[in-house]
Amino acid sequence: MARNGIRGTGGAIAVAVTGVAGIAVLLSVWTAHLGTAHHAAQAPAHTTAKPAAAKPVPGQTSVPDPKHPAPPVSMDIAHASDKGDRAVNITVDDGPDPVWTPKILAVLKENGVKAVFCVIGPNATANPELIKDIVAAGHRLCDHSVHHDTTMNSKPQAFQRSEILDAEKMIEKASGGVKPLYYRAPGGAFTPYSRQLAASQGMRPLGWNVDSKDFERPGVNAVLNTVKHELSNGPTILFHDGGGDRSQSVQALEQLLPWLKHQGYVFGFPVR
Ligand SMILES: [Zn+2]
Repeated sequence: MARNGIRGTGGAIAVAVTGVAGIAVLLSVWTAHLGTAHHAAQAPAHTTAKPAAAKPVPGQTSVPDPKHPAPPVSMDIAHASDKGDRAVNITVDDGPDPVWTPKILAVLKENGVKAVFCVIGPNATANPELIKDIVAAGHRLCDHSVHHDTTMNSKPQAFQRSEILDAEKMIEKASGGVKPLYYRAPGGAFTPYSRQLAASQGMRPLGWNVDSKDFERPGVNAVLNTVKHELSNGPTILFHDGGGDRSQSVQALEQLLPWLKHQGYVFGFPVR
């Protein structure tokens, strides 16, 4: 769910700024630990920092921290579609759920649409057959953490790390070896560290432009109106298949997908 209401690139920047402030504090702690652990064998971190060895990712505006593994995919938060300007990316969060995920999958299939499923680790572990169904239908997987902590950006790096990497392992095990290609922080609570860590595992940080607000169950028409009015924000649309009764999400997608096609939109995946 999107508790903090972040949307679009403006929200992404707000998160990045918050994250930088947070990481500065964390880095000073980290440096202190490093000094203790390595004693005099290593000079202070600020004099030993070296440029990242890996080649820069084309188009990446974030600067990877050389103290952490260099990411092979961009650590910038993705919003764009790989199908260009007249495309949308359907993203479905917080599942999989034994009741709602099959219904969402059926609507997507009916409309020939491929989506990204941002799944919570324990939900993947509990429903491996649904993860395999998602993959078999040609959809993509996204790591949505273990505990869906929307304050992750204010937690220690060790917590962020376990949330991301443990969920990734759960998802990969449930899928039978298919890796998630994206990482979406719960509530958009990214940090520079979490974005770099995810990207270093090949998972592109994934934002959104349009929050359908389906999580709040405002009625099918309200969900549809929100999406239609906010489509100009950008292509990546947020829906949910977990976290409660998602019948409005199913009904909204049943109407929205044909409407989008009629408007001339095609369906893509978020860029990686
Ligand atoms: Zn969520």
